[in-house]
Amino acid sequence: MNLVLLGPPGAGKGTQANLICEKYKLSHLSTGDLLRIEIADKSEIGVKAKKIIDEGKLVSNDIIINVIKSFFNNNKNSSGYLLDGFPRNTEQAKLLNKLMLELEEKISCVIQLDVEEKHLKERIISRSKEEGRSDDNEETLLKRLETYFHETMPLIKYYDELGLLKKVSGVGEIMHINQSINLIIDHL
Ligand code: AMP
Repeated sequence: MNLVLLGPPGAGKGTQANLICEKYKLSHLSTGDLLRIEIADKSEIGVKAKKIIDEGKLVSNDIIINVIKSFFNNNKNSSGYLLDGFPRNTEQAKLLNKLMLELEEKISCVIQLDVEEKHLKERIISRSKEEGRSDDNEETLLKRLETYFHETMPLIKYYDELGLLKKVSGVGEIMHINQSINLIIDHL
């Protein structure tokens, strides 16, 4: 089973991804987390990525391909994957299709975590206090939201037309949201 989690910054993708991966024994691919590891390591990719991440933009697809290839190499015998924060634009969605073909796998479902914009700001601000992410500030958040609306939102229509999209409200108790997601997964 291979799942994609889609949603704006602050929707709770990471939290739900951890719960889903634990329950269904999936390997968690978070391109954001992988990039933050590169940044902490001060690798060549990390140095390039940090500047772009702090501007609230998407890092280049070349960097993402690099990060993803090493993830799949390191997680070859997984029983399934949960993709969190990837794909983020149509080019990456096409890249994912190619990757699935190569692995002789397919996307089982795309779960859209739906959260209204007004809730996102307060969530990001409270996360910034807990995690200290350099891109969790008000100015970068506005840019990240703009990037999401322009580049990532078209994927909702794309996956809906493929019959893969399931929408879940991302507002409310974490475990309640999680139950709604589990219901969808259990019916796949
Ligand atoms: P996230 O942790 O998923 O919110 O990602 C944090 C930041 O990393 C994003 O705002 C982007 O700058 C960058 N990033 C993460 N995943 C991708 C991706 N698939 N494509 C391009 N940039 C990404």
